[in-house]
Amino acid sequence: MQSCVFCKIASGEIPANIIWQDDIFVAFSDLSPQAPVHVLIVPRKHTVSLMDCDGPELLGSALVAVQKVAVLLGVASDGFRTVINCRDNGGQTVPHLHFHLLGGRFMQWPPG
Ligand code: AMP
Ligand code: ZN
Repeated sequence: MQSCVFCKIASGEIPANIIWQDDIFVAFSDLSPQAPVHVLIVPRKHTVSLMDCDGPELLGSALVAVQKVAVLLGVASDGFRTVINCRDNGGQTVPHLHFHLLGGRFMQWPPG
């Protein structure tokens, strides 16, 4: 999608600190990190939100991508948090599906 910031990052049109990528996903540092490790994992294909995914394939492989990035960034053994904000009440601000991976510190619960 032409005007979508995450599509532009995935295509290389705008810069980002790319952590990992494959044919389906790109992982890059969040511009406004909320933890020592804060990475976004996004599908290359424009998908608006969690509720706009059809079937288990993309969602399953996204969580496998999260595992890979967690190992790569050294937060797998201590643990980390994965967040999917969905639509307005979920606090989604960028309408391109993304998985937050937050780590490097203890995460409180519940979220605000
Ligand atoms: P959400 O509120 O779940 O939609 O999260 C969107 C996230 O995207 C926020 O944490 C922003 O800091 C992050 N973000 C927005 N624009 C960029 C960008 N150009 N590069 C990296 N992260 C971004
Ligand atoms: Zn997009």
